[in-house]
Amino acid sequence: MFQVTRELRFCYGHRLLNYNGKCRFLHGHNGRALITLAASNLDELGMVVDFSEIKRVIGGWIDSHLDHRMLLHKDDPLLAYLQAQGEPVFVMDVNPTAENIARLIYKIAAGQGLPVVEVRLWETEDACAVCDSGS
Ligand SMILES: [Zn+2]
Repeated sequence: MFQVTRELRFCYGHRLLNYNGKCRFLHGHNGRALITLAASNLDELGMVVDFSEIKRVIGGWIDSHLDHRMLLHKDDPLLAYLQAQGEPVFVMDVNPTAENIARLIYKIAAGQGLPVVEVRLWETEDACAVCDSGS
């Protein structure tokens, strides 16, 4: 089995609903998503998937949907106000935790036909969440 991992960096803001810590307030992160793909056999170029293809497909999606946006739960009372002000938001059905952002990126990668096996989202220098095929 071969694996490749591509790191994609992006900035996002969020806050957590029904959470009794400082993450209930609006704040931002310099996030790092590590996308790991796997294959039993390499392609004719000797690759699992070209690193630049991972950046083009997943990085492109992140740039247009998550980067420099406020990620908010669909029930967040601030959502309507921020949208009315023209602020860029990304609406999630679940709390925008690192775990759920990792799962979101995993599903996007899988939906694009990439052989993703893990997405690791580093929310800070010290903390990351992992979504894999068993999640
Ligand atoms: Zn946070």
